[in-house]
Amino acid sequence: MKPYICAVKCSGIDCARRSFTGRYNREDRTTLHFYTICFMFNLILFGPPGSGKGTQSEKLIEKYGFKHLSTGDLLRSEIARETALGMEAKSFMDKGQLVPDEVVIGMISSAIDQNENVKGFLFDGFPRTAAQAEALDKLLELKKSPIAVMLALEVSEEELVKRLMKRGETSGRSDDTNENVIRARIVEYHKKTTAVADYYKQFNKVTLLPGEGSIDQIFDSLCKEIDSRIVDA
Ligand code: AMP
Repeated sequence: MKPYICAVKCSGIDCARRSFTGRYNREDRTTLHFYTICFMFNLILFGPPGSGKGTQSEKLIEKYGFKHLSTGDLLRSEIARETALGMEAKSFMDKGQLVPDEVVIGMISSAIDQNENVKGFLFDGFPRTAAQAEALDKLLELKKSPIAVMLALEVSEEELVKRLMKRGETSGRSDDTNENVIRARIVEYHKKTTAVADYYKQFNKVTLLPGEGSIDQIFDSLCKEIDSRIVDA
């Protein structure tokens, strides 16, 4: 597998494992006081429901070859197969609530184990609570490839509701057609999920980006952030 250098500037004690704050400067390699050779580039695409994570994930996977792990997709596949896990999850999803941590963490842990030798994971819709973020860090520690960055898309609430109602016309997702469920998902996002950004902020791993604009504009800004962190070893 091709290794990547997740380039970092030294920002203090313990920085090699914890702080992926630096920007790689091609002109001035001397700024690389510390770097970690990672075998995977792991990225969290973050943002409220309807912020465009799914659309942008597809484009990023095509460009970079990441393995896409969307807990929403995994849960919907469990529901379609009528598994016990799917049936449990459905009752929460139908109300716009989060599925319990232990269910989602178990599911993502198996998905990571089933995908050896990938270039990196693109996590979409996960982690959604601080407990999930801590569990993910532990799982990735075993792979010696931590989260390189969390890219967070910012979109206003009214725009989110508009987009989700529109998506509901064609997506076949029951949680996209009912405005009350949509608003409940946004409330849940503010109540529990924004804590995930706070968790990664302490390691300087969060970059906020505008999630409104054209798909290509947003994609370009995501790519710039990724390219500045990946350097072929
Ligand atoms: P999504 O497709 O990411 O919008 O997720 C749809 C629904 O699946 C959410 O409203 C939650 O009920 C559930 N879900 C997806 N990912 C998670 C997660 N990481 N933790 C808890 N619930 C989740």
